[in-house]
Amino acid sequence: MSFERVKKRMLEAGSVLPDTPRHSRAPADEATVQELLKKAAQNEQILKRYQRFELRLLDASGFSELLNLLLDDSLAYFQLDAIELWLYDPEQTVAEHIENLDDYSNLLLLPKSEPLKQLYGAKPSVQLVSLGRVQSPAIFHNAALRSAAMLPLVRQGVLVGSLHMGARGHKRFALDKSTDFINHLASVVAVCFENVVNQERLHRLSMYDMLTQVKNRRAFNQALEKEVSRASRNKELLSLLFVDLDHFKRINDSHGHPTGDRALKIVAQHINQMLRKTDHVCRYGGEEFALLLPNCSPERALEIAERIRMQVSQLPIYNDAGQSLNLTLSIGVSCWQPGTTACEQALVSERLVRCADEGVYSAKSKGRNTVEFVAYQQ
Ligand code: GH3
Ligand code: MG
Ligand code: MG
Repeated sequence: MSFERVKKRMLEAGSVLPDTPRHSRAPADEATVQELLKKAAQNEQILKRYQRFELRLLDASGFSELLNLLLDDSLAYFQLDAIELWLYDPEQTVAEHIENLDDYSNLLLLPKSEPLKQLYGAKPSVQLVSLGRVQSPAIFHNAALRSAAMLPLVRQGVLVGSLHMGARGHKRFALDKSTDFINHLASVVAVCFENVVNQERLHRLSMYDMLTQVKNRRAFNQALEKEVSRASRNKELLSLLFVDLDHFKRINDSHGHPTGDRALKIVAQHINQMLRKTDHVCRYGGEEFALLLPNCSPERALEIAERIRMQVSQLPIYNDAGQSLNLTLSIGVSCWQPGTTACEQALVSERLVRCADEGVYSAKSKGRNTVEFVAYQQ
């Protein structure tokens, strides 16, 4: 479109141009129109950038990816000086799903929703604020920032978070600025969070055992594959413990299934809290657990197995009548050390499981309530 036609259209539209002084009937000069065209082109660029960013957000397949986009990539996308995210996380859903929580210094997880309510009052809406004055509650502990946009994240009518974009310039988020793009972005971010929360819930349902709340057999198989390849890559030892409850059938028969269920849950949770966050505690079958310990020597694995055996035998577990149960474990231990030659990883997994299982078998035959090591055999 030629410059003259654009100018004509803009003049016809009327509202786009600044008011001309009353004493003059002269149309807006060319410089003004050029300025407006430049502004329109800039806005189009901004809109495109927002759209590209929103598409990436919608594509995010987990908390970590979404947080990296929001708390890292967004700085360059929107030319911000700071970004900060507050999330209401009463059940620690977010905290549980992020492995490297400490890496996000600009993420604040709130056990209570009050700070969010204080930020926005009764009707949450995007706010442009100037920083530097005393604010309560304070956003951004960064004295260099002068203005900010606060985006409320609302999910199903509930305020669940707040995203803060900060700038050193006091005009960047001044009150006279349009908030259309930002409003749209706030809605998209809220939807994306809802998506990943649902995805993570589904993932948890498919990977965790509902009774004991530790990983299930499917998760174990995945973890084993991942850890064998990691151990092979890093030339690290990988230990596996197979844990089988002794005479568990008798527990059910004598005290009833609900007591058996409770015992399984207590044992699983106890073992879980004894191990590192990087270890995998899995319910392998009915009353059998598989514990996968990355970067763990045979000596340490045996030490851990012995500690588990002893502590579980002393756990206070009661039947419905309040009588204490005697519960013991048989544990098989094995450890794989990656060699110098390449190996078939599926074969390593299979052999490691077989060795740990043989350990359990051997512990049973030696009278139960014991730990047996079986060396990994090629
Ligand atoms: P052993 O010392 O040789 O391992 O004897 P055991 O009785 O533990 O082994 P067995 O394989 O004969 O029996 C396992 C029992 O575990 C039988 C089954 O009823 C019980 N079991 C498996 N899953 C569950 C569960 O989810 N809840 C309860 N309560 N019991 C379970
Ligand atoms: Mg068994
Ligand atoms: Mg058993």
